[in-house]
Amino acid sequence: MEKRFIYADNSATTAVSQEVLDAMLPHFTKAYGNASSIYKLGRDAQKDIETAREKVAKAIGADPKEIFFTSCGSESDNWAIKGIAENMAKKGKKHIITSVFEHHAVLHTCEYLEKHGYEVTYVPVSADGFVNPEDIRNAIREDTALVTIMYANNEIGTIQPIEEIGAICREKKVIFHTDAVQAVGHVEIDVKAQNIDMLSLSGHKIHAQKGIGALYVRKGITLPNLVHGGGQERNKRAGTENVPAIVGLGVAIENATKNIAEKNAIITPRRNRLIDGILKLPYTRLNGDRDKRLAGNLNISIEGIEGESLLLMLDLNGICASSGSACTSGSLDPSHVLLSIGLKHEVAHGSLRLSIEEDVTDEDVDYILEVIPKVVERLRSMSPVWEKMMKGESYE
Ligand code: PLP
Repeated sequence: MEKRFIYADNSATTAVSQEVLDAMLPHFTKAYGNASSIYKLGRDAQKDIETAREKVAKAIGADPKEIFFTSCGSESDNWAIKGIAENMAKKGKKHIITSVFEHHAVLHTCEYLEKHGYEVTYVPVSADGFVNPEDIRNAIREDTALVTIMYANNEIGTIQPIEEIGAICREKKVIFHTDAVQAVGHVEIDVKAQNIDMLSLSGHKIHAQKGIGALYVRKGITLPNLVHGGGQERNKRAGTENVPAIVGLGVAIENATKNIAEKNAIITPRRNRLIDGILKLPYTRLNGDRDKRLAGNLNISIEGIEGESLLLMLDLNGICASSGSACTSGSLDPSHVLLSIGLKHEVAHGSLRLSIEEDVTDEDVDYILEVIPKVVERLRSMSPVWEKMMKGESYE
């Protein structure tokens, strides 16, 4: 078996595409004007920003005036949640609803607000990884300021019933924000049809560079600034615009959203072959619903091994994968997402997330399916937990 290099961690980040890079490059050395300057170099930069804004808006069914560029998905989440919290507190509304398995950009923002006098309801998720819209309905109170539920989960890939949750929020007149960082480019999004008031997205998950994001804010909602200073982004988000990154995001989102169904039709059978192949190993389970998940995502728990050791062994074999999210994989705590769907700590510890795109070929899938059983067998042969499991002894 010849060693390959396979990048199967696109939920962590993606490579900047050649087309995005080509669009960005002139903005470093030739078209480098400050978009606030009145001479042509500046005006051209402003025009390019507006073209990118139109592309972002079109990709999610919004109006360009409803798009604000930010530095990343985390900033978009922070701005949406803290901004609405600040606005609504003036009306005596200090209650926020979210779910237990959001990304930390949402969870830690909510925890911060709890320390500042807000109350947060964390709705549970089902064993197959979904928020129940009726739980949202039941949690809404007179003083609810905001509902924030992610579009697709970053670890187990499950796609949430966003349109239904949005409809409930509309009916109850509560603002609805969704963190769509993992969903953009993988599912069809139409903020108007899906009743979404605010949406966060991030460039580096869709082949733009790291450090660029956007927030959609429905017309009629006015957010207070998160960043104060100059008059950029219609006075709402200060800071000289990162023109190359914004231009890159425009190209990236246009490419990512133009043939979603065709891409998914290529990826899904490969992903399913990976799932079926890995599940042939004893004591494994698929985390999250098999079908209502991102086309490229799989998350499987493999008992009797540590996720970190598995990742290192896969790396030695040229396979980039993850266990839990990239943001938390520096810690050895089990993933809050896997615990939220009911996994025991020791099962959550041995989990593998692969997130593939079309560049992972059928031959790559064969290679991964050759490597994983060998690596798992090796790790289990050295694992005291596995030994106890095989003897039927308690290992908790
Ligand atoms: N939200 C979700 C669901 C994510 O997966 C991520 C990144 O992994 C973020 C937010 C944060 O995005 P960024 O890295 O652009 O700050």
